[in-house]
Amino acid sequence: MLLKKERELVAEYGRKLIETGLTTGTGGNISIYNEKEGLMAIKPSGIEYFKIKAEDVVIMDLSGNKVEGDKKPSSEYNMHRIFYQNRGDVRAVVHTHSTYSTTISCLNEEIPAVHYLVAFSGEKVPCAKYATFGTPQLAENAYKAMGKKYNATLLANHGLLAVGNNIATAFATAEEIEFCAELYYRTKAVGEPVILSPEEMKLMNEKFKNYGQK
Ligand SMILES: [Zn+2]
Repeated sequence: MLLKKERELVAEYGRKLIETGLTTGTGGNISIYNEKEGLMAIKPSGIEYFKIKAEDVVIMDLSGNKVEGDKKPSSEYNMHRIFYQNRGDVRAVVHTHSTYSTTISCLNEEIPAVHYLVAFSGEKVPCAKYATFGTPQLAENAYKAMGKKYNATLLANHGLLAVGNNIATAFATAEEIEFCAELYYRTKAVGEPVILSPEEMKLMNEKFKNYGQK
């Protein structure tokens, strides 16, 4: 079996997506890239997270061909491979429909530096232009919004996308950005949030480079 460890991690972190409330049902998806093999392990399409076993996880190359697995890959596989193709620092991608990030995405707004933890993404969380789910256009819009500068982006009228140099970091980024989205929503509901200065966020970005497990 190819990418056994990555398959197990995709199944494990899929369960965590539900346990942490970051997504419901079969929404969202996860992948992990193995640079040595040039292959990614990605969640199968439309199977409940608690039913996904390591052998259900689909192995694909970066051209979008299925290499191993009986199941259909997640419909958003283009939105995963585009980051592995274009960013040498990205080894895992997490996509969720978490409530507050999706709420802000439906306003087609970005999340400014309402809290220093926005630095998990960068100086802000951009918002990618809307495109139909599962299309190469959505993958392009997501990459265009995030580029090499950010580690997360909202997807207009859809949800949240986070990347990292391993699955733990990508997952933590999705969790922390959802927290910041909730803070942004709540502060906007009772007043006008105070946004941290670009200088302070630059300092945070420096500090966050050394954050987490490398
Ligand atoms: Zn989605």
